[in-house]
Amino acid sequence: MLTQAERHTFYKSKAWVSIRKEALKRDNYECQECKRQGKVFTDYHDPDKHKRLDVDHIKDLEHHPELALDIDNLTTL
Ligand SMILES: [Zn+2]
Repeated sequence: MLTQAERHTFYKSKAWVSIRKEALKRDNYECQECKRQGKVFTDYHDPDKHKRLDVDHIKDLEHHPELALDIDNLTTL
């Protein structure tokens, strides 16, 4: 389990910045949740959230640090 400070450090690491970029590219810079629901860009599930796409851990970083850099555990939202 990672502390908030450890997670903060992780999100600033080069390894994260690099895998995050890869995940965005893989997902074509599209929100995967909206895509799954068959929505188009203009009616994304939460327009405010989509001002900036983010890469999320499917299994959260706090409890699954071993999957922190596993691209299969990442999704663009
Ligand atoms: Zn969305």
